[in-house]
Amino acid sequence: METRYILKKDHLAPWLRRVAKSHRVVAPVKNRHGDTLYAEIDGLDKVELDLAGQPQASAKSFFLPQQEVLFTYRTGKGGYEFHEPATPAPATVYFGLRSCDLSAILYTDVVFMGRHKDPGYRRRREGAILISIACHQPHPNCFCHATKSGPFLEFGYDLQFTDLGTRFLVEAGRSRGETLISQWRPFFSEAAEEDVKLQYQLALEANGLFRRNVDVGCAVRKLAEGEVAEGIWRELADRCQDCGGCAYLCPTCTCFTIRDEKLGPEHGERLRCWDACTLEGFSRMAGGHNPVAREQHALKRRFQHKLRDDVHKHGRPSCVGCGRCVGICFGGVDIVGFIDRLSEEDLP
Ligand code: SF4
Ligand code: SF4
Repeated sequence: METRYILKKDHLAPWLRRVAKSHRVVAPVKNRHGDTLYAEIDGLDKVELDLAGQPQASAKSFFLPQQEVLFTYRTGKGGYEFHEPATPAPATVYFGLRSCDLSAILYTDVVFMGRHKDPGYRRRREGAILISIACHQPHPNCFCHATKSGPFLEFGYDLQFTDLGTRFLVEAGRSRGETLISQWRPFFSEAAEEDVKLQYQLALEANGLFRRNVDVGCAVRKLAEGEVAEGIWRELADRCQDCGGCAYLCPTCTCFTIRDEKLGPEHGERLRCWDACTLEGFSRMAGGHNPVAREQHALKRRFQHKLRDDVHKHGRPSCVGCGRCVGICFGGVDIVGFIDRLSEEDLP
């Protein structure tokens, strides 16, 4: 059995302060409007950590910025010169990641550090230490238990924290996590058997707290076999207003577009910017033709990508059940309702 540790709650801030001396620290912070967002912490006394509420946005933008310069160019007598920006990627501890958000990072790793390694993503990812907080108060729209990306993780984290009331149970999943403990070992003690039992009990209780229980496997099978009635897609198309909010908030949506900006007569830059398959221009081609008709709406592509194509390609859906797309959609598009409907619906 891996060693588990206890960190008393009043030791958390002093420990994080030590960690912050050698690392940038990003954590869920409640801002002055009452919203919780992952943010860089530059002084623990000045911020209110929120480890219980689900951050409104995931940590995606720290690894895949919404807009990023891929290279700059300059023209001269000898032709074009290209320069890659020397973007710094400081060693960063991501503390208090929700299990779904950490699972999403493991997915984006597959996209950006698979066969083709993206230099910017790789720099940021290699300098990242991921510390998750096991969730025992799932948000009403969450269904990570159904996508196997929470509420408690079994792998993928450098450290996983579980709130046991007056103390945290801390599990080290990788050597980088273990190092953060051994460097400041006096803050930690070894966990007792009853701590581990309490964690187990909390995990069981958390699994029973989900309000949205869906059979993702059934939806995956129906999509794979093409057993989804056209009427369902049409209804989704009618609801969607092409705002792109779901994809922007989604921790696993990675579609991007490339833009060239001229910055002067002889120089410019190439940018990578987030894009969304639900936006009308996503599939529009040069000349204005759009091969995706309104009735064959982008939501079909979005759900097929997440629940069919990625299962085929990577062996699991690229939805981590965070529920954010459900909360943001003003048209009432609800991926949980969609999955549920496929499980219940008679075959067309
Ligand atoms: S949030 Fe809703 S309305 Fe906006 S693009 Fe997504 S599905 Fe469409
Ligand atoms: S599709 Fe929706 S529920 Fe699934 S990971 Fe993306 S935002 Fe979360």
